[in-house]
Amino acid sequence: MHDFRQEFPFFNNHPECIYLDSAATTHKPQCVIDAITHAQEISNANVHRSSYHLAATVTEQYELVRTRLAQLIHAPASQNIFWTKGATEALNLIAYGLGELCLAQHPLWQGNEIIVLTSEHHANILPWQQLVQRINQIRLKTTQDKSIKKLRVTTVSPDMQGNYQYDDVYDAITDDTALIAVAHVSNALGCIHPIDLISRKAHQHKALCIVDGTQALAHISVDVQTLGCDAYVGSSHKMFGPTGVGFGYGTYELLNALPPYQVGGEMIEYVSFSASRFQSFPYKFEAGTPNIHGVLGFGAAIDFIETHRDEIQTTENQLFNYLLMQLSQITQVRILGQDNTHKISLCSMVLTHQHKPLSHYDVLRWLDNANIALRVGHHCAMPLMQHLQLDGTLRVSLSAYNTMSDIDRFIATLKDAIQHLIVENHADSIHADSIDGVIVSEHDVKSVLLPLARQFGVLQGYENIFRQIMLSSKALPQLSADEQIESYHVAGCEVDVWVKYVSQSDSFEAFANSKIIRGLLAILLEKANALSHQQRAQFDFAQYLTELGITHHLSQSRVNGLSRVIAQLSA
Ligand code: PMP
Repeated sequence: MHDFRQEFPFFNNHPECIYLDSAATTHKPQCVIDAITHAQEISNANVHRSSYHLAATVTEQYELVRTRLAQLIHAPASQNIFWTKGATEALNLIAYGLGELCLAQHPLWQGNEIIVLTSEHHANILPWQQLVQRINQIRLKTTQDKSIKKLRVTTVSPDMQGNYQYDDVYDAITDDTALIAVAHVSNALGCIHPIDLISRKAHQHKALCIVDGTQALAHISVDVQTLGCDAYVGSSHKMFGPTGVGFGYGTYELLNALPPYQVGGEMIEYVSFSASRFQSFPYKFEAGTPNIHGVLGFGAAIDFIETHRDEIQTTENQLFNYLLMQLSQITQVRILGQDNTHKISLCSMVLTHQHKPLSHYDVLRWLDNANIALRVGHHCAMPLMQHLQLDGTLRVSLSAYNTMSDIDRFIATLKDAIQHLIVENHADSIHADSIDGVIVSEHDVKSVLLPLARQFGVLQGYENIFRQIMLSSKALPQLSADEQIESYHVAGCEVDVWVKYVSQSDSFEAFANSKIIRGLLAILLEKANALSHQQRAQFDFAQYLTELGITHHLSQSRVNGLSRVIAQLSA
């Protein structure tokens, strides 16, 4: 196997880190870092503006990347590629422009319905939802023609195990479909959707097929002409390149018809106060100075992918098969979308024990403590989680720089975490008096009967603090299940948290789906409930957690989440 890891300086700097979150962003090989440094140190000039030698050379290099990307995805010409700051911006640009075409009754827009898959990333849902709202509002104000139908977004969902029946997708496309927006690869399930068949069906009904290729390009070969889609977008940072650069591909017809999304320098042909003219595509979509160094770095990433394509795929397949084999031996693991035969090296799983969910978030804390980086939660696919009736999944996403030993360590630590949580949950489910010493020691039981805060002063080390927070969760004044409703929900936390102020007793009750968060809430509420309203308003709860030695064991996002809870306690 090619040793990809040695090409990625990140791992020299973090030899202990097991990185299983490449779907969030990939690491960068030395060649990409060198290309960006070279651009900044040596070939720094603005593009397209000046004809002096340096500027012309940089413009040439910059445009060459467009050509190389066009070759990578088999676009007919470099003009079919426009630069953006990411896939999100490219999708917004296309959706905005298509809304304008709809209003103008352009022949490319036929129908009233936009289809998206339930598993789409929010970046491929929200622009379409906004389009529909914007156009419906404009039409409501400006047209008296009652025969014009409202636009709508409709969805096609997988089954409850996360498997798609693609006939459902093909059958959903009708003459009333204006477009279908679909990921090439789902970031939440890892499945590769049959874009060629979907776009063929779309075109039979004069609908467009817009593809979010963000999760595909680092893993599989892409030929946009064979796929037959009308547009395809991606982000450099998921393809070993830098952040802040992305692209959109579109057919000649689509890009020619779409209006600019932003206006300004670079994209004009002529400007005067009486009339201005814009350039043709792709430049009409690229107002302002672009991310030149980012594009040049992306160029090196494209070369890296081209050079190592086969090895990347072989290595990822071997790693992924090994991962699946190991996971299949853990009875508490259920993998979503397991029937999908075409997948990239990404796996989303839920953990259950005796039909009860184990909190992914608590598992994550355990893994994080062992330097294993992966993602839990909704993965920017909330509608999918709602459909599957899950509060999130644990997602492992591999790249060729991972190793078998990464997987071994992950599996061993995951087993530990599961075991640990099963023991904790068992201890929870029986009355404290009857807890036998094998499950949880006498000292632990006594400790929760004492004021929670007192337990922390003497504790050293993450494991002890972690354990004590978990134990504290048992003392939380719990908000009942039927009161875990929208009005008590605290937005912005990593997991679902509800906090209710009970005025009769001047105290708070709360609940969270994670045991660690319940523990932290218990510690905060113990203090808050002992203070008067006025004292609470002046009390520094964040400082309190710091004094207990807890804060420095919390990630920034958890601190941010807790600060929202604290704001409620102090209100
Ligand atoms: N689509 C998918 C499938 C993604 O996974 C992501 C990133 N998680 C995006 C779109 C958005 O990409 P970016 O944030 O780079 O614009």
